[in-house]
Amino acid sequence: IYNEQHPFEQPSPGDDKKTLVILGTGWGATSLLKSLKTENYNVIVVSPKNYFLFTPLLPSCTVGTPIRYITRHKKAAVQVLEGECTYIDPVSRTITVEDNSEIRGNVTSATIPFDYLVVAVGAENQTFGIPGVAEHACFLKEIWDAKKIRGRLMDCIETAAFAGQTEDEIQRLLHMVVVGGGPTGVEYAAELHDFITEDLAVWYPDIAGKVKITLVEALPNVLPSFSKQLIEYTESTFKENKINILTKTKVKGVDQKHIVVEDANGQTTEIPYGLLVWATGNTSRAVVRKLMAALPNEQKQRQGKYLASVFNKLAKNEEQKGVKVTDLKPFHYSHYGSLA
Ligand SMILES: Cc1cc2nc3c(=O)[nH]c(=O)nc-3n(C[C@H](O)[C@H](O)[C@H](O)COP(=O)(O)OP(=O)(O)OC[C@H]3O[C@@H](n4cnc5c(N)ncnc54)[C@H](O)[C@@H]3O)c2cc1C
Repeated sequence: IYNEQHPFEQPSPGDDKKTLVILGTGWGATSLLKSLKTENYNVIVVSPKNYFLFTPLLPSCTVGTPIRYITRHKKAAVQVLEGECTYIDPVSRTITVEDNSEIRGNVTSATIPFDYLVVAVGAENQTFGIPGVAEHACFLKEIWDAKKIRGRLMDCIETAAFAGQTEDEIQRLLHMVVVGGGPTGVEYAAELHDFITEDLAVWYPDIAGKVKITLVEALPNVLPSFSKQLIEYTESTFKENKINILTKTKVKGVDQKHIVVEDANGQTTEIPYGLLVWATGNTSRAVVRKLMAALPNEQKQRQGKYLASVFNKLAKNEEQKGVKVTDLKPFHYSHYGSLA
């Protein structure tokens, strides 16, 4: 504890060192930073978040570790810039960083040169371009998403409890819809159920029993990438706990109070909701899409050649060690268990 409170002096790595820019302060960037010998590079970290968000706890609470806590304990100093990288120029080897935070100074944009660049910016929410999703649904990726969901959830409950509220409107307000039967959607639906039965039932005994949760999934079952056993367990546990699962159901549109869904027979239905949580997976960020578009063809070809040369060298090394390329075993991911 003493060492954590009293970090040692951090020398600057020196002007002769190459500049390594790391975009992001998430899982990828943080694990790189922890193992990196910062005395070998002039390291600059750029991220709109000045903390590491522990996503597995996001559905139940919000926790963040300031990134400076990690960088301050590195041997050599690391620069941290709170800002969003909006453009990567692969030719001039520079990045453009914008300060998009609430409080801005006179300078809000900077261009930073790099020798090496690590792009660890994660992904953004996938909406499949379905009309109304971006405007009306809540996502669950960032701290502010969790706060927004919490605010809307409690507002739905208080509005349902408002004097003289009509029965139809109470039913709509207390219908919580989660779209996406992957791990995030399943975990959130379960978390919501526990909150309603364990907490809400005490504070709002007249309301809690009227809350309905529906999980909507386009595929034939939830948790499609998990084992059959886990899928069956999840579906039967949800049934026991009266969490309604609509599989083979696609959301076609969303407005402020309804979602329109299409079932396996092509029949469309309008479902009223109070809270809509959207968890249908990820897509690449704009800065990454722009980078891919900006990479000159020649560079893409060179990357392909470079990758081929890496594999060739690898094969040669293995052969020199007496291992035939055909003996090389494919990489197998070992799962050490899930946190949530
Ligand atoms: C609710 C929830 C629960 C989860 N639970 C689990 C779990 O239990 N187990 C598990 O293994 N995985 C879990 N995951 C998935 C896990 O969080 C992701 O796989 C992981 O975060 C991906 O790491 P990353 O470093 O690629 O991106 P991220 O962790 O998303 O980090 C991206 C970083 O880049 C920054 N950034 C974004 N745009 C820019 C930009 N333009 N310029 C600079 N910086 C930028 C962001 O602010 C962030 O710091 C969960 C995810 C969610 C949403």
